[in-house]
Amino acid sequence: MHPLRSLILAAAGNDAIRRVVATAPVSRDVVRRFVAGEQTADAIAVTRELVASGRSVTLDHLGEDVTDAEQADQNVRAYLELLDALHAEGLAARAEVSVKLSAVGQKLDERLALANASRVCAAAEQCGTTVTLDMEDHTTTDSTLRVLAELRRTWPSTGAVLQSYLRRTFDDCKALAGTRVRLVKGAYAEPESVAFDEHETDLSYVRCTNALLAGDGYPMFATHDPRLVRIVAERARWYDRKPGTYEYQMLFGVRPDEQRRLAREGETVRVYVPYGSQWYGYLMRRLAERPANTTFFARALVSHS
Ligand SMILES: Cc1cc2nc3c(=O)[nH]c(=O)nc-3n(C[C@H](O)[C@H](O)[C@H](O)COP(=O)(O)OP(=O)(O)OC[C@H]3O[C@@H](n4cnc5c(N)ncnc54)[C@H](O)[C@@H]3O)c2cc1C
Repeated sequence: MHPLRSLILAAAGNDAIRRVVATAPVSRDVVRRFVAGEQTADAIAVTRELVASGRSVTLDHLGEDVTDAEQADQNVRAYLELLDALHAEGLAARAEVSVKLSAVGQKLDERLALANASRVCAAAEQCGTTVTLDMEDHTTTDSTLRVLAELRRTWPSTGAVLQSYLRRTFDDCKALAGTRVRLVKGAYAEPESVAFDEHETDLSYVRCTNALLAGDGYPMFATHDPRLVRIVAERARWYDRKPGTYEYQMLFGVRPDEQRRLAREGETVRVYVPYGSQWYGYLMRRLAERPANTTFFARALVSHS
């Protein structure tokens, strides 16, 4: 792994650094580039703009790794409020929600996470939309896939996320190819025993793309990598997939011109929009992915302090 990436991911878990970054006056401005805001109304405003520009949305209420049931319940209630607002604003057909099981209690008890995720899925269905379960570090993969399988018994459109950096993922792709699956490279610091290096991760992404397109499910290709976007387009043609039978996904604030270009070409493009006050871990993963973002952040911190 790139040394700067390891350093930033280590900082993500460091409380002293967290306090400095979270309270620096400029942080709020910089964070805004990647995060819609702290309130439901901010998430709705950004969703409205993205939908008006021809893009779809998946919303993530930030707040992973909760350590008590009350916090998990608060996160569920935030999703319920969001879903009501999406419905009331007529945005639910174009906006789904992404849920991290660790935000709804997975670290406390898998059954609690299942019960809480079920509350979000039920509300999403009532509002005319659906849920995708984000994937977290590899120690949670089996548990997340178990919860997913349970949720799909009642809500079959619940989306899965698979990470091409994991050695196991090609098999998971084959198993889930008939369903809604988001394919990503993977964002966590993982040991070599379970994960590929960068080059192998890209090759794995292509193998997984083929497996998903060959199935009769709905693949969601989440990457900003121009080479992989080209390969997905070429492979979709090869498998005779029409736009709308698969989609591209990118993060809010990352390659917006490319998002608009794909949408103009008639592709479905879904933007992952995080919001909420717990933005620190999310921001750190974005910085770790792209050292240029770190320079941007550091420069902004210095010039405002
Ligand atoms: C919609 C969505 C949902 C996700 N959900 C999850 C999840 O549930 N679990 C998980 O582990 N990870 C998730 N991720 C993160 C993912 O795993 C990767 O960490 C992240 O997308 C970075 O990998 P990449 O494929 O975009 O390409 P990278 O390997 O980061 O970059 C490859 C190339 O893409 C281009 N590029 C990348 N970033 C930029 C930029 N900011 N500006 C311009 N060019 C750029 C550059 O040419 C770069 O060389 C998600 C990502 C997206 C887009």
